[in-house]
Amino acid sequence: MEKGKTIKAPGQSVFVTNGFASQAAIDKKWTVLHEMTHFVGPRDGTGIQIDDHAYASDGKFLSLTKFQKLHNAETISLFMLEACEGTTKTVASNDLAAHKAHFDTFPKVSPSGDIVTS
Ligand SMILES: [Zn+2]
Repeated sequence: MEKGKTIKAPGQSVFVTNGFASQAAIDKKWTVLHEMTHFVGPRDGTGIQIDDHAYASDGKFLSLTKFQKLHNAETISLFMLEACEGTTKTVASNDLAAHKAHFDTFPKVSPSGDIVTS
């Protein structure tokens, strides 16, 4: 790629808005992880691709079906973020504030990556 030249490669590019720059560091990580999930698994149109069934900010985020949760970019990226950053930092994201009680009912990931069940 020529330095400084913008190219569009459909299906192989991620575009972020100006809002990305003002996101907290952990939300930037979550955004990148979210977008990367769209690059794995079956292709669009197969019915089993990683899709956007609901974002964390959507009221229906916690009530997706099991299939939707397993194929939802937001859910998968959140799982990866929590495994890498720990539960406390992850749940502190503004997008998850409304779901704090939900996450309090599950085992936690410590900052060092251990799974804590009590
Ligand atoms: Zn998405």
